[in-house]
Formats: sequence, structure tokens, C-alpha cells
Amino acid sequence: MARKIGSRYTANQILGRGSAGTVWLGEGPEGPVAIKLLREDLASDQELVGRFVQERTALLGLEHPNVVSVRDLVVDGNDLALVMDLVRGTDLRTRLDRERRLAPEAAVAIVADVADGLAAAHAAGVVHRDVKPENVLLDMQGPLGPGGSHPALLTDFGVAKLIDSPRRTRATKIIGTPDYLAPEIVEGLPPRAAVDIYALATVLYELLAGFTPFGGGHPGAVLRRHVTEAVAPLPGIPDELWQMIVQCLAKAPASRLRGSELGVRLRELLPLVAGMPPLDVDEPDSEPAEDEAPVTEEAAPAGERVRRRGAVPLVPGAKPADSNRDTHTSMRVPGPDELAGGARGTARVPRAAGAPRPGSARHRAVTRRRRVAVGAAAVALVAAAGVGAWLATSEDDAGATPQDTNNTAPATP
Ligand code: ADP
Repeated sequence: MARKIGSRYTANQILGRGSAGTVWLGEGPEGPVAIKLLREDLASDQELVGRFVQERTALLGLEHPNVVSVRDLVVDGNDLALVMDLVRGTDLRTRLDRERRLAPEAAVAIVADVADGLAAAHAAGVVHRDVKPENVLLDMQGPLGPGGSHPALLTDFGVAKLIDSPRRTRATKIIGTPDYLAPEIVEGLPPRAAVDIYALATVLYELLAGFTPFGGGHPGAVLRRHVTEAVAPLPGIPDELWQMIVQCLAKAPASRLRGSELGVRLRELLPLVAGMPPLDVDEPDSEPAEDEAPVTEEAAPAGERVRRRGAVPLVPGAKPADSNRDTHTSMRVPGPDELAGGARGTARVPRAAGAPRPGSARHRAVTRRRRVAVGAAAVALVAAAGVGAWLATSEDDAGATPQDTNNTAPATP
């Protein structure tokens, strides 16, 4: 079932389906390629097609061993396609699903590769905006590196921005995968290079632990945790590595490492984690207990583990967000009421029966939790407003410096 894509390419066989379209194994004048054919509704959007053409130069300009290069953009009748280097292998999500957790050496080596790719993109003024395991491809034909890992390449540069027009997002109320969203995005600031570092540190944590640091439960709760909670420690990893993860998950973007520093420092740490088995971390409950207090900046007891990345629908009754590898293009922004509470949120309903004796330790604990819960509701509402602002301004990149790598897809995601 081969089909022609423009005058130069033939798509021969489906490699996989993503949220933005279908990826085909294809053939071009210079040999085999991967062709991402965008969904029909995206391809028929004139505004998107215009942007596609406009950003062509930036999209085609990124060349790095850890970046999947875009070779060509094709606009042909109803077809809108990105022609990419073919990577023979699998994506990191598939590997993680299979292995649940990676040995620290392999995890560090893979993330160091991605950090190098990000460094090159950031130096060119490009912010990825959608770093997550689904967008990391493992080249099985490349040489084996530390921990037996294959070279890792970051893909989908610029796609988030291309398909994330304010008009589209307003119409469909869509936001990014919440697990990897940096706090400044939740607060409505334009995404700069540091959002990619935050997302990559989230990926590293997930590779080590088997769950993301702030995922699980209601998406509103996930957004709130990004803004207010400290990351729970991962027992068993070298302190230097832990400190680096904490630094890259800092709430303040300026405190995070840059891509180039992250790559170098991770490689320096490889000998420390050589031969370590995957961590043995408690699988947290996907449904937190009703009176579970969030881990706060003041208190994140060592070893305490909280929640896992949850397969929870954004909208009651919808399909779980993880079930179809949804990305930012298929998720709905929860309403303020959904963000603020409900049984699945962290702003929980106070217990009526069996209330603790006033003055008791349990009473104090419950009171503190209620205060946190009320604060959480307020933060969640701010988060909702912030996400709205982000969507509204996602096209407005004015004022960002090249070092900040304004939210350009390629130059402006
Ligand atoms: P998503 O939207 O979930 O990020 P994609 O549309 O990018 O997914 O990719 C869908 C599938 O195609 C994935 O399973 C991925 O492994 C595969 N794929 C994507 N890009 C390439 C490529 N350049 N080379 C080989 N396979 C690819």
C-alpha cells in the first residue's frame, strides 16, 4: 500500500501512529527515510500550513547526532508531511513499558545523549517544548554505549508549536502532557529552554523510579504539584546524581542547569552508577489515600514515596490519558471546579465522621493538611489561569533572547 508523498518520496509501510499523525517507512532520492504524515484535520488547517512553510528553515536547520533531523517538509494537496532521518529502533516509552525501570547507568547515558541534543537545539534558538519518553528514539543500529544503551535521539522538534495554535487550543481546550510541564508554564510564562531541562530531569527520574515525580491523580493536582511540591527522594542513587536531578527540577528556571552542562555532568557521573541494578523503589498507590498530605518544600521525608504517573482521564468519563499515548494535542484543560477538588484532586473533602480530638497530634496533622488543601485549590485555580494564558500567548515569542531560546518551534514552538 505504497503512496506518493509529493514528487520525491514514497511512503511504503506504517512504522507507528502518534497523536499528530502516522509515521511511515519511506524512500526518497537519498535512500530510506521516516515520513510523518500529519493528521488530516491538521493538514487542512490553512494557518498551520502557513506556519509550516514559514518555519521551514528553522525546522530543517537542526543537525546533531542526538537529534532526529528533519530533511524536508512536503505540502502536497491534502498531505502535510515531515521527512525525517530514519531511526531503526524503538522509542524510550516502549522500552520503559517493557522494563519498568532502567539500570541507572543506562538511564544516565540515555539522558546525557538527549541533553546533548537539547544543548545543540537551544544554542540554535530552538525550544522543544514536548520532551518525554515518547519523543526519544533509541537507535538499535548505533554502537552500544554505557550500560548497554543504544544512542538516543530526540525527535518531534517544533511539532508541538506547529500544531499548538491558540485558535486550535481554544477550540479544543488542549494542553501539554501534565507530567513533564515545568512550573513556569503552569504559571503562564512563555516556554524557554529551561522547560526542556525540567522535562528531561522528569524523564531521568521516571527512568530510575518507574514513575514521574509529580504525576498521578487528577491533572489539576499534577499541575499544582509542579508548582508547590518538592520532589520526593529516590533512595539508592549517588548523592551527586540526586542533587543534579533536584537542581534541574528547581521551580525557578534560572536555577536549572543548561543542556550542555547537564550532558557533561551526567557523563562524569557514569562511573559512579556503573553496574548498579535498577532501583528497588516502592510502587506508589495510583489513588492516594484520602488524608494523604502532599510532600511540601519543607518536608519531604527521605524514602517517602507518593504517587505514580496515573492513567487518569482529564475529563470524567474520557479515556485514560496514558492509554493511547496522548500528547498535548488531545488533552482537555480541566475546568476550575475539576482543578480545585473532587475525590481525585488533592484538595480533598474534610472528613466528617471520626474527626480527631482537637489539640491531638492527629488533629494538628489534619488541620495542616486542610490548610494545604485550601492552598492547593487556590494554586490550582491560578494554574488554570496560567495554562489559559500560556495557550493564549503560545504564539507570542517576542522579547526572548537567543540564549533563553525563546519558544521557537523550531525557532518558535
Ligand atoms: P508521538 O506523537 O506519540 O510522539 P510519533 O508520531 O512521533 O509519536 O511516532 C509514532 C511512532 O513512529 C513511534 O512509535 C516512533 O517510534 C516511530 N517513529 C517516529 N519517528 C521515527 C523516525 N524518525 N524513525 C523511525 N521511527 C520513528
